[in-house]
Amino acid sequence: MRVSTALLSIAALLLLAVALGDELQGVRGALAAPPGPDYYAVLGIKRDADDREIRRAYRDLAKKLHPDRNPGDAEAERKFKEVAEAYEVLSDAEKRRIYDQHGVEGLKGNQGQHHNPFDIFQNFFGGGQQQQQRKGPDVNMDLEVTLEDLYIGRRIALEISRQTLCHKCRGSGAKNADDVTVCRECQGRGVKMTQHQVAPGFVQQMQTTCPKCNGKGKIVTSTCPTCKGHKVVRGDDLLSVDVERGMPDGHRITFPREGDQHPDITPGDIIITLRTVPNKRFRRHGNNLYMKETITLLEALTGFERSIKHLDGRTITIQRTAVTQPGFVHEIPQEGMPKHDDPSDRGKLFVEIAVVLPSSITSTQAEAFKEQLSGHVRDEL
Ligand SMILES: [Zn+2]
Ligand SMILES: [Zn+2]
Repeated sequence: MRVSTALLSIAALLLLAVALGDELQGVRGALAAPPGPDYYAVLGIKRDADDREIRRAYRDLAKKLHPDRNPGDAEAERKFKEVAEAYEVLSDAEKRRIYDQHGVEGLKGNQGQHHNPFDIFQNFFGGGQQQQQRKGPDVNMDLEVTLEDLYIGRRIALEISRQTLCHKCRGSGAKNADDVTVCRECQGRGVKMTQHQVAPGFVQQMQTTCPKCNGKGKIVTSTCPTCKGHKVVRGDDLLSVDVERGMPDGHRITFPREGDQHPDITPGDIIITLRTVPNKRFRRHGNNLYMKETITLLEALTGFERSIKHLDGRTITIQRTAVTQPGFVHEIPQEGMPKHDDPSDRGKLFVEIAVVLPSSITSTQAEAFKEQLSGHVRDEL
């Protein structure tokens, strides 16, 4: 009972918000939001958003609001449920149509059963058991990223060519929703039973695809001007890839059901594999970074200071006052790559020191070195 009261007051609030919004925008009269919660506003999308925009909005919000990420935050949990409800309705072409025309009131009755928001989440992000629907092929793509991208994190807009359900007719192929009628030839079954005599007294009954509707069971009496009745359109699209801090090379980012759309099958996934382009200064191994730095003979003997520009532009300083052997490795904790599962923790940075000797010295310098160093060198060996 408490839940439904809460929902009612949310609905009331949203109604108020919708009413105010329409007041301000005035001209939107024809597109006015239907009564009840504004699912489009809940997902933060436009009313003509296509399936992908709906999924993207749900994916971002659901991840952000999931109670696992917001323990004890009742407001986040309420929003999480609301977002699931909005997604459930808008991602279903039929429910969306009813909702657009009649609002949540229209969805009451047999369509109104809302599923558990956690099931919706589970099914969306995979791991769900509902795989019985035919699924289109997965699309695999490589995405080149720099070490800087993996260190700092970056959102990359990837241009892809994609087939989508026509958003004008929402995949029906018809100009108006009413122009799709049940095929009278097969009564919507898509198949016909025919009988023919194979021998006297023997009649074979065969099931054939209905020639009138090509097995679809539906007849479209007018053609959608946008897709010319093909139900799908192909176009360039942008895929927003979140390269997270510390993702390893070869990491795969899956966009569930973002592949080519077809009217009757579930789209395949788009799978992006990260490929790191080599960095001029840093080499990565796991969460550690490796680099080389050269110093002079004098610096090797008397100490040195170096400023290193890190992948995020910060300057870090290496300082040594003692003698540095060639090949010495200076180790700096917490200056390696961020760990993907906990980016506040980082690996190590290893700086290997190379010593560059002068290409020649004068005889005076040679004498001076002999005088100063001969004893030491013997001792060290
Ligand atoms: Zn038919
Ligand atoms: Zn169309």
